[in-house]
Amino acid sequence: MPLDFKNSIWFRNKVLKWYAAEGKSWPWRTSQPDQYVILVSEFMLQQTQAARVAEKLPIFLKLFPTMQKLAHAKSDSVIRAWQGMGYNSRALRLHETAQIIQEKYGGVVPSESAALKELPGIGPYASNSLVSFIYNLPNVVLDVNVRRVYSRIASPQTETQGKLSDSTLHEIGVTIIPQLNGAIWHHAIMDLGASVCTARNPRCASCPLIKKCPSALNMRTKLPNTQTTKRPEPSFNGTPNRLWRGKVVEVLRYSNPTGITTTALYKKAITTKPPTKTDKEWFQNLLLKLERDRLITVRKNLITL
Ligand code: SF4
Repeated sequence: MPLDFKNSIWFRNKVLKWYAAEGKSWPWRTSQPDQYVILVSEFMLQQTQAARVAEKLPIFLKLFPTMQKLAHAKSDSVIRAWQGMGYNSRALRLHETAQIIQEKYGGVVPSESAALKELPGIGPYASNSLVSFIYNLPNVVLDVNVRRVYSRIASPQTETQGKLSDSTLHEIGVTIIPQLNGAIWHHAIMDLGASVCTARNPRCASCPLIKKCPSALNMRTKLPNTQTTKRPEPSFNGTPNRLWRGKVVEVLRYSNPTGITTTALYKKAITTKPPTKTDKEWFQNLLLKLERDRLITVRKNLITL
């Protein structure tokens, strides 16, 4: 069922009024947003919770207060500053993006989503959210929270996991986003999805949209499909490789800047138990991938960030 267009203004006004009273005031949401701060926060928010980003962002900005400072920094210092955020490759992508913006665009974040998508670490979602948050334009931003709320207010949903197709959700976005205030709108709808219209237990009774939402008080949890088999993550001794990668980078953050040998790194990051031949091969592969991702440097048998 298509969105009742007559109601889109009603939905919009209700969401914005609710946000004015209940919205979160994260450090990257100010009345005069700094585009560099928004860029850094977007990278940080890609796989890290907002509360953690709120804690780490000021520390990062103290070390790299401007696009120029970040662009001219050494990559190992950027990885060190990313400490506690996980997924260290995001730090490198951010660093590369800052360098390109500095060199190619004179330090100004492009205002077109097509140009942004060319930058490292910026996909369709991030390109639209940067345009929306930095330039306040009505680009459609569809994160998991926005998708859920749009699906539920546009058509009667009974399963908590149900949602509409991307093209329908995009159409809803085009209809409902205020032309002159894309940034506030997305902050508002994301907050509503995160705190009220939640995935499993929507709090319809406290929702500003309850009067006209076709899914209100109608939701039941869909049991997970036990038939679907998830491909296991590559792991070692029961721990996923991505966590071992993080441990290796963590050890290097605090190691002698001249480097550490493979054996010493294995002992510190993995285990003090002597490695078998298979363990050694696994560790070499892990290091090769980290080197390929430019998170570590191997020179004369010494490893550094
Ligand atoms: S009324 Fe319920 S289902 Fe509808 S938007 Fe609000 S919380 Fe979500």
